[in-house]
Amino acid sequence: MKLLAFASICFVALLPTAIIGFFQQVEFARESVDQLALHLGTLVHQAREGTISPTLAVSTTQNNKLVLWSAFYRGDVPFARAGLTPGPQQQGRIRLIRINPDRPIAKQFPKPELTSLSGEGSEFRVFLTLSERNGLQERLEIGISYAALYSTAQDSLALSAVMFITAFLFLLGAAVFVDIYISRFTMRVIRAVRFRSEGADPDSFLSPTFGVLMEALERRDDQLIDTRDTLETIFNGMQIGVAMVSTELRIVLVNHYLTSLLTDAGASASEESLISEPCSIINLPGQTPSVEELCRRCLQSLSFEEQDIEFTIAGQKKYLVQEAYPLFGTERIPLAIIVQWRDVTSERLAQITVENFNRELQDKLDYQRAQLEETHQKLLQSGRLAAVGELAGGVAHEVNNPNGVILAGARYVLNRLQSEPTQPPEYVTKYLQRIVKQSERVADIVRALLTFSRRRPQEKSLLHVQDPIHDALELVGSRFAGANVQFEKDIPADLPFVEGNRNELAQVFLNLFNNAVDAMAGGGQIKVSADMATLESQPAVRVRVRDSGEGIPGDILDKVMEPFFTTKPVGKGTGLGLSISHGIIEEHSGTMRVRNHPEGGAEFEIVLPIVGGANGGKKD
Ligand code: ADP
Repeated sequence: MKLLAFASICFVALLPTAIIGFFQQVEFARESVDQLALHLGTLVHQAREGTISPTLAVSTTQNNKLVLWSAFYRGDVPFARAGLTPGPQQQGRIRLIRINPDRPIAKQFPKPELTSLSGEGSEFRVFLTLSERNGLQERLEIGISYAALYSTAQDSLALSAVMFITAFLFLLGAAVFVDIYISRFTMRVIRAVRFRSEGADPDSFLSPTFGVLMEALERRDDQLIDTRDTLETIFNGMQIGVAMVSTELRIVLVNHYLTSLLTDAGASASEESLISEPCSIINLPGQTPSVEELCRRCLQSLSFEEQDIEFTIAGQKKYLVQEAYPLFGTERIPLAIIVQWRDVTSERLAQITVENFNRELQDKLDYQRAQLEETHQKLLQSGRLAAVGELAGGVAHEVNNPNGVILAGARYVLNRLQSEPTQPPEYVTKYLQRIVKQSERVADIVRALLTFSRRRPQEKSLLHVQDPIHDALELVGSRFAGANVQFEKDIPADLPFVEGNRNELAQVFLNLFNNAVDAMAGGGQIKVSADMATLESQPAVRVRVRDSGEGIPGDILDKVMEPFFTTKPVGKGTGLGLSISHGIIEEHSGTMRVRNHPEGGAEFEIVLPIVGGANGGKKD
């Protein structure tokens, strides 16, 4: 309809132009014919008057097209014709007329008579009878032809029509073009956008006329959508969080990984809530400096910026690397900033594991070194002890014999004096008793020194740990009562046997009990317990001796087992009890330790290997 209306408008607009052009041509032809007719009339008048010039009569042409001519006829046969382009009939038949061109026709012919006027097609003729001889008329024909004008007008009209039709068709074509490619297309795009935004099916309004165009567009559209979908899939499938931030520091794009990262971190992070917001809205825990600060730095330096982030989600550590770099347009002008978050938790945890492993190794190495140092010290100590022991042994041996003589002599004299009827002076008895007592003490020390210095292994047998404990109690039990000490014992009867020297082990427990009594001046408790333990990953029997005394001061705790270390007054302690005990236990391949019990008092722990491993030493 629209096209028809436009065509009508074109037609109406062009038609007056065509009509005016046509009438102009007709008017021109009419004026020309009028002029010719006037001219013809003049010639006819001149011919009748005999004043016509024969030359004139034969030479009137216009634009090489004859429009005026004259001819002489004898009868009906034209014998001379002037001004006419020779046609096939006239070829070779032209003859000279009997007209003297220098004389007026009226002088040569009687007054001509107008015999006939005839018009045919685009020609008009006037016949004048000049003479009549022997019944044969000689006539003068004067004619005009406006065929040329006629055809000119016709040509003009045809040209106008062709131009009109061409212009009409051109305008019509242009209208169709405009309608198809611009108007309709634009309308379609507008409507498509509106329909699509309303969720309607755009196909429902497609005009079939534009089917092909629309199909092509839709194919292109589909390709674009496919490309966009592919890019979106790649962007959202990336295993790093990505955000595009404008140079005004607002968020342009975020991918799914980032939104889920933010959600995991407890921040509300839907894509809609982030887009167009200031980038400071992206706020992960432990993010220092902020994303905004990082972007600012990036815009300033126009280079890569990086920082580590560390935070805890649901009790699990998370390690991220946050990076920012500018996107450049032409001439290194930054268009936007890409900020990305890489989860490096597994790498970092692996690194931490390796670091911990290294640290543990270092600790073990340090421990081994300390052990080595301790062993070295022990070796030195044992070497020293061996030397001291040797020396002490030598001295003891030398002292033992004279001391024995002194002691025996003193005892003998004392006994003799006491059996005499006369009492000796008091001071003699007193000093003899002192000599005996001190000699006995010397004998004790010598014995201890000899034990300490002894190197040869003692005979061992299978025994239950309660046996040497029992022996020691036999010797020291009377002392407990005098010192107000209570004794408790918890030794399971079914403990495995150990291999040892009963006397030596009894000496160890005797030393421990004596020291415990010495440590509890006002009385107290001694508890002895035994159970199973391990020694160098092998089953062993453990005996603990604990008292309720003051304990051992921390600064001497590691010295009490050194030989000759004592805190007891001169004459009371030798400082050899614990060192001898320690030596005996080591000879039994066991260990002896001391500590202060958390609830008070000193506690000695002795561990002895059982015979034959886990089951070998079981008591029946
Ligand atoms: P001595 O008993 O001759 O001093 P020891 O080697 O038996 O020599 O003991 C060394 C030192 O260890 C003692 O002088 C004492 O200071 C300390 N000692 C030993 N046993 C205990 C204990 N049960 N409570 C407090 N101190 C103790």
